[in-house]
Parts: sequence; structure tokens; C-alpha cells
Amino acid sequence: MTDITEEGHRRRTFAVISHPDAGKSTMTEALALHASAISAAGAVHGKAGRRGVTSDWMDLERSRGISITSAALRFDYRGHVFNLVDTPGHADFSEDTYRVLAAVDCAVMLIDAAKGMEPQTMKLFQVCRHRRIPVITFVNKWDRPGREALELLDEIEERTGLRPTPVTWPLGTAGHFHGVIDRVTGRAVRYTRTPGGATRAQEDELTPEQAHAELGHDWERAGEEVSLLSAIGADHDQKSFEAHESTPVLFGAALPNFGVARLLDAMVELAPPPAARPDVAGAVRPLDAPFSGLVFKVQANMDRAHRDRIAFVRVCSGRFERGMVLTHAATGRPFATKYAQSVFGQERTTLDEAYPGDVVGLVNASALRPGDTLYEGSAVSFPPIPSFAPEHFAVARARDSSKAKQFRRGIDQLDAEGVIQVLRSDLRGDQAPVLAAVGPMQFEVVQHRLSAEFGAQISLDRLDYTLARRTDAASIPLLAGRRGAEVLERGRDQAMLALFTDQWRMRTIMRENPGLVLEPLIADT
Ligand code: GDP
Repeated sequence: MTDITEEGHRRRTFAVISHPDAGKSTMTEALALHASAISAAGAVHGKAGRRGVTSDWMDLERSRGISITSAALRFDYRGHVFNLVDTPGHADFSEDTYRVLAAVDCAVMLIDAAKGMEPQTMKLFQVCRHRRIPVITFVNKWDRPGREALELLDEIEERTGLRPTPVTWPLGTAGHFHGVIDRVTGRAVRYTRTPGGATRAQEDELTPEQAHAELGHDWERAGEEVSLLSAIGADHDQKSFEAHESTPVLFGAALPNFGVARLLDAMVELAPPPAARPDVAGAVRPLDAPFSGLVFKVQANMDRAHRDRIAFVRVCSGRFERGMVLTHAATGRPFATKYAQSVFGQERTTLDEAYPGDVVGLVNASALRPGDTLYEGSAVSFPPIPSFAPEHFAVARARDSSKAKQFRRGIDQLDAEGVIQVLRSDLRGDQAPVLAAVGPMQFEVVQHRLSAEFGAQISLDRLDYTLARRTDAASIPLLAGRRGAEVLERGRDQAMLALFTDQWRMRTIMRENPGLVLEPLIADT
């Protein structure tokens, strides 16, 4: 094996997908703490009320105390390099949240023991399913009252279609968490809270006799359940996991650090390392081919004084060295990488070298767009990142008609950057495009950037559509004049989208027009 392939195999590049409040920030901190990537919990996430709180690069961000954009946290564990790609997934849910999944090889689906599968988890899961990203499930907050473990497994299976294969099984019901049975080693592990919470929990192995003496009924019950799992064949199977047919499940609690190290171990043992990636033509570029990388996120205005733009690139093949000159596949132009950084939250460090699976932040990247490929040597283009199903719509207009040109230029620029989807129709005309977003926060970003960067103040009128389907030009006359429905063209890919106010309206129109083409967009439920 070459160095590069070996380095690639040491990488685990993943994202945590979850619903707000399931514990993603807490888990991120706990993971990093175990891996000693940061000095103390709390320094990782820009959440109000914590240390290292607001990042200071955007007024909007500052006023809300949240992080609008995403980057990656890098840490070492057991001789492996972990890249945790952050999915901004809260009030700021947006297309970026989905797009970062183009950069990962595996996802950890974090679910709240009391709440089970929640809507945002499902949406993100659907992107994983579409991209066939293997999913490891972590049932969090087992230290608090919650649902029955077996019931949660049923729900996971029913909602995701994946066969759950528990790697650990809880000793004690939710709220009475003593430890786990490790189904791989057969050992019982007891967790003990350490004072202060944010330090590593104590873990002790118990002999069956000790477990019986200490835990009594909980031990017997867990034993019965584990036998049941084995009887129904709920055992881990690497092939079906990688084929996105089953999901290993672990139980724990991020806050007191129960089961977090076991999750990292599962990532080392089960999560797939970076693999050779197919290009647009389907040919694979081996890990040790010359450098290639996929831009999965462009973040603007991190430093307002310089109005710089950072492009986050996932290394797909080869070795990245700072200073190398790459080719930008979309334009054929050279791209100098003098300013390469490893970025997470506020902390930026200069990055000199990176391998497949790593994430590099490139400064001065105004020409780069999400989905772009950079390469060295023989040319390659990776498939574009798909556009996701928007759920929020608004008509944008320049407040001052003398700024029509700036407005138009700004909208086109933000469309090209993937900040928002821009839809147009002859009916609405050029000066009143419809902006389509996955999360409403995208509108605020557009409003802010158009005014700050293009000098165009805009008004936004929200439309009451909630659903978009891919259609064709034949639907234009069919839907013309219908209430609660409209056909527009998406600038980004010239797709015709039919918008509807609700499911009921859509179904009625479908019934009346059996020939109407309506196909789900990615990330639709
Ligand atoms: P996020 O919105 O998914 O990032 O969730 P946070 O990490 O901010 O957690 C939401 C709340 O749940 C916070 O009050 C956390 O302290 C709490 N929390 C997270 N994990 C656990 C856990 O394992 N046990 C308990 N009891 N609380 C938790």
C-alpha cells in the first residue's frame, strides 16, 4: 500500500445527524474530549451561553448566537484521524445542512431516547439513504426517562427501513442507566458518573457474578433481551451495514459521557474509510491518484474586513500540500492554495498537508461553488451535489427600482453560490423571482448579503407553498390559473418545479390530470 492509501484508510470522515436538542453539540464536545482534540468541553460550538460562544464574522450570526455555516473538527483516536463534519441543524437548517453530507463516508444518527425518530433526523436520514451513506445509530440520553429499548429498535426499523443491529445493549431502562452489555465482546461494562460531568466517565468491566449481584433484575432482563436479539438475528453484519441495509445501534448518554468511547471504537472498527470516488462518467479515481477534491461548502464573509470566502474541500484522492496549484474543473483555471486552513468554529490553523477524507478550508475562494471539483494531474469532475427539496418560498423584489441591476447581479451570484434556489417564470418576470429555501434562515442570509455586498435592499413576500415536485413544460398550461399551484423554472439546473400549498391540493390536481408528471425531489418525505 502506498502512503496515501494508508493515510486514507486511517481516516473516518463523518457527520452527526439529529433533530435539534437531541444532543449533537454535547456529543461533539464529548467525542472531541475523548479524543483530546480540544482542551475543555464547551470550546467547540458557537452556542449562546457556552464558552467560545458567538463567532464574530457576521452580524446576523452574532445577533443570534448560532453558527450558520459548517466546517470540520479533526481529531486523533486510536491511531485514526477523525474528521467530524458539522451539520448546522437547528433554527438554521438549510441546504448547507444537506450538502455537507456529500463530504462524509458515514453518519452517526443521534436520537433522543424519549423522542425517538424526529422530523429533522428523518430528513437528514433521507439524504443519507439517497447517497447510500452507512449510518450508525446512537440512542442518546439513556440517563433520563425514555422509551423501551426494543420499542425504539422497532421505530428505527419502521421509519428508516434499516435493520437495527445493537452493538451495545443497556443495563437498566432509560433513566436507570447502569452500563451496557457489549454484544461484540459479551462483556458487561458499568458506567460511573464523574463529578463535573464534562470529564470522561469511569468504565469498569463486571463479571457476570458481579453484574448479577449489583444489578439483579436489570441484569437478568438485559440478558433475556440480548438472547432475543440473537434469536431474531439482529447481529451486526458489515456488508449489510455498508450497503445501507442495517444500522449498528449503541446506547449511551453524551452528557455524562456514557458510551461515547464505545461509539468512537465502533467508528474505528465499523465505519468505512474513504473509498475511491466515481467521477461524472462513472470512472473511479483511486485514493492514491493525484490530488482531487470536492467543494461541499462555501462560506462567505467570515472576515468582514477582507470579505473573504472560504471553500471547504473534501480530499477525495491524493495528497494535499499547501501551496500546490490545482485546476478548477468548472473553469479550467488554476487555483492557488497558499492559504489552506483547517477550520472549526472560530479556531483556524494553517494546514500543510491533508489526505483522502480530510477537509481543507481554502481562503480567497470566490470562484469556487459547492459541487465543484479541484484536481491536480489528469482532469476529473465529480458528480454535482444535487439540489434539495425546498419547503419555503418567497418573492424577492428590489425596494429601490434604480437598483434593479445590482439586485439582478446579486441574486444571480447567490444562486450560483448555492445560497438559495432561484425560480423564475414568464408570468412573474425577471424583477420578481421566487426564492426557494430548505430552511427560512436562507432568506435572511440573502437579504443580508444583497444589502451588504450589492447595495440592494430587498422586500420578501412569503408564498404559502410548502411542496415542490419536479415536473415538465407540459404542466405549465395544466396548472396555469390554478389556485395553490404554480410552475417555475429553477435557474441552477433548468429543472421545472411545480409548487403546491399542500398535499391535498397536489393530490386533487393529480387526480384531475392523470398525465401530469410529478416526481419527488431529493430529501422529500
Ligand atoms: P443539540 O441541539 O442537538 O446540539 O443538543 P444539545 O447538545 O445542545 O443538547 C440539548 C440539551 O440536552 C442540553 O440541555 C443538553 O445538556 C442535554 N443533553 C444532551 N445529551 C444529554 C444526555 O446524554 N443526557 C442528558 N440528561 N441530557 C443531555
